[in-house]
Amino acid sequence: MHAVELKNISKRFSGKNKRDFLAVDRIDLPIAQGEFFSLLGPSGCGKTTLLRMIAGFELPTSGEIFIHGEPMRDRPPFHRPVNTVFQNYALFPHLTVADNVAFGLQMEQVPKQEIRSRVGEALAMVKLNGMENRRPRQLSGGQQQRVALARALVKKPQVLLFDEPLAALDLKLRKEMQIELKHMQQQLGITFIFVTHDQGEALTMSDRIAVLNAGKVLQVGTPTDIYEEPRSRFVADFIGETNFLSGQVQQHQDGITSVLVDNTLLLNVARDRELPIGTQVTLIIRPEKAMLYPLDAVKDHCIRGTVEEIVYLGTDTRFVVRLTPQSTIVVRRQNLTRSDLAVAAGKNVQVRLSPGSLRILEED
Ligand code: ADP
Ligand code: MG
Repeated sequence: MHAVELKNISKRFSGKNKRDFLAVDRIDLPIAQGEFFSLLGPSGCGKTTLLRMIAGFELPTSGEIFIHGEPMRDRPPFHRPVNTVFQNYALFPHLTVADNVAFGLQMEQVPKQEIRSRVGEALAMVKLNGMENRRPRQLSGGQQQRVALARALVKKPQVLLFDEPLAALDLKLRKEMQIELKHMQQQLGITFIFVTHDQGEALTMSDRIAVLNAGKVLQVGTPTDIYEEPRSRFVADFIGETNFLSGQVQQHQDGITSVLVDNTLLLNVARDRELPIGTQVTLIIRPEKAMLYPLDAVKDHCIRGTVEEIVYLGTDTRFVVRLTPQSTIVVRRQNLTRSDLAVAAGKNVQVRLSPGSLRILEED
């Protein structure tokens, strides 16, 4: 049974001057028990709306949400086996850490003894023992985040929902919390549904990611699937940097599709499924998968190019290389060596685009 199943979920907001707005457009998503599942997409794509529908704060215009196999249509938020951790933590400033965590249980009139032990357990899970009597303002951003998490965990939810919970933290702390949350999720075995617009965050933390745009799910997969095999231009572009080259299919042979780019470059792509000859396609290659060689090196799958720009970025160096009058390609190298720089300084180089690193987009 799935932890959460969204079946054909849409949400239409009726706006001013009678303009309706479709914020979520026919989404089907099965989310497995114990999964760390991220909803990733740009601002305004419908992530929060989708999460609020799972929590019950918002009702779908159509479709049905199941949690552990049960339809949620008639269940108010507090009768759903889910809990939400919000971006701004929503802590009560005048209450202590312990009272913030206890609040939900007190509302449910759980016996005092039990509250005390459950609050202790929840604070131990987020490593905040000893902080019981502090107020939120006496805590760091990361600690406040953990109080918010403890407050959700104390209710023993089967599913935890997170709406950009780390967005307010600085980069270093955010990276630490990403790892910490992921560890916690693995230990607890609870299903996490995590909303973020940060692709690096989604790649780091998730078992699977759904990439959203304009209310639709464009692709669902593991971080590797999404990064290595993006189906569409949007996904390829949103997740990391990608080179796009367009051309026509020339031939297929032995699992290799040859594509003619800008009427001059013949590039070979490893690919099982054949496309009709003459099909207009978009090729993609990640900057770190392209290689640079000097002109006199003898290598397969190399084409000549001219270095137009070199930008040093610390661990990476980014080269822009012109391949044809119409097209350039970005090549990224890590841990740059002297020979890389010597190659690039020569201006005229070879760029190696191997068949295994080129992909043809399924949708454009
Ligand atoms: P995200 O969380 O991905 O940034 P949201 O789910 O908050 O996106 O919003 C998706 C779209 O729906 C946005 O264009 C937003 O303006 C619109 N929207 C969200 N809530 C409402 C509402 N209550 N009434 C009207 N439009 C809304
Ligand atoms: Mg949002």
